[in-house]
Order: sequence, then C-alpha cells, then structure tokens
Amino acid sequence: MPDILKSPAFVISGQDLGESDRLITFYTMAGGKMRSIAKGAKRSRRRFVNALEPFTMLNLSLALPRTTGLNRIDSTEILDNFPQLRLKFECYIMASLCCELVNLWTKEDDPQKNLFKLLRWYFGSLNDGFHPKKTTLFFKILLLTLAGYAPDFDQCLLCKKPPMGDHVVFKLHAGGFVCSGCRKAGEKTHKIGLGTLKSLRYIQKGPLDNLHRLTMTDAVLEEAWSLMKSLHCHHLERVPASYKVLAGLGTE
Ligand SMILES: [Zn+2]
Repeated sequence: MPDILKSPAFVISGQDLGESDRLITFYTMAGGKMRSIAKGAKRSRRRFVNALEPFTMLNLSLALPRTTGLNRIDSTEILDNFPQLRLKFECYIMASLCCELVNLWTKEDDPQKNLFKLLRWYFGSLNDGFHPKKTTLFFKILLLTLAGYAPDFDQCLLCKKPPMGDHVVFKLHAGGFVCSGCRKAGEKTHKIGLGTLKSLRYIQKGPLDNLHRLTMTDAVLEEAWSLMKSLHCHHLERVPASYKVLAGLGTE
C-alpha cells in the first residue's frame, strides 16, 4: 500500500496529461504546493465530480510515490466550490490571476499555513460579493509579503523619514520609495500619492478581517493596482498570462 497524505487543499491549476489523465496543481495545508495525477479525469469528468475545477476547496487524499514520480489522487471530498465566484467572469479571471501568482511564487513541499488561510479568505470574499479588483489587490499585497518581498511603505529609502508632501516615487528594485525631498528632478516612474501609500500600508498590516472596511477611491485603487502589478512582474521577471486576459476585459 502506498503512503497516503490527507489534507485540505485548493485546486490552483490543471492541464491534460496524455489520453485520459489530468495533472492538477493543489495548494495544500499540509504540504504547500503539490502536483498530482488525476487518473482518468480527462476521459470521465464524473470520476471526480467537479472536485478538480479551479478554486475548489476539498479534503484531498494523495497516494505518495514510494521512490520518485508524481503523487496520484486517491480521493476527493468537496468542502466549498464557491459557486457565486464562478458566475461573474471578472471574479473568475481575477481568481485565475491569483492562482497563477501562487503557482509562480511557491515551491513544492514548502507549506505556508498563512497562504492557505489567505486563499480561503480570498475565494470566500469573492464568493460573498466583495469588490473583485479591490479584493485581488489585497491578495497581491499579502502574497508579496508572504513571499518575502514586502515593500516598505513606511519610510523613505534615503532619509528614513515618513513621507511628506503629496506624492513619493516608488523604486521597484529597492522595494521602497523616495520622498519628495530626496528624489532627483525628472524622476517620474511610479509616482504614488500619499493617500495610496496610506492604503497600501493599512492593507499590508492587515489583519484580514479588517481589510474590507477600507474605502478607496477609484484613482487610489488604480494607482495601487498598477504599482502591485509592476512589483509582481519585476520580481517574477515575467508578465503572468492572466493580466493579458484582464487587459482584454478592459479591467486592467
Ligand atoms: Zn527622503
């Protein structure tokens, strides 16, 4: 008998594998990101009764290989499939972006309970009808923090003072900002208003239960969104494919 790992898990991606199988990537509470073969899942969708659709939270049982090779899905039990999230195309694409980011940011067998908790909060929030773009912005800020690349929104990189005036200039490579007193003339990249900086600081400090209380104007949301997109793309050294789908929707 193979060793069995049982854990709550989220489906974060899936692709066909050969004639009849699928290769599913999960984020599990016990083992972090794990890839598994779903035997027969391509030939018969009934085999796993929708349990392997993206974003589904399930109780997962995996048969681990004795030596090398991939895990095999032994059984699944759906805990929540977040039905409301699936009805709105914008929510679906935003959730796909977050799954893509989790896939890019994480390694296999490196469990982070806080990331599991963040995913549950995120899918639950979209399902409960919270603003998809705002909720996704919160997710992206907290994911970057969990990945160890938390930007410093508190003090100027050079003079170490809190920001003054009406805007700062954010430096992607340094993960922080330069205040209006320290910036050189002509530096225009990622000009961030102080209101946006304040919102970013609030989100970064959490906790999750407080985030939906934050009110943001559309201008602040767009400025923060653009900065977080640039930060993720800068650190990952690529533009995740879901951003192109969002651009097509006109929500980018
Ligand atoms: Zn300064």
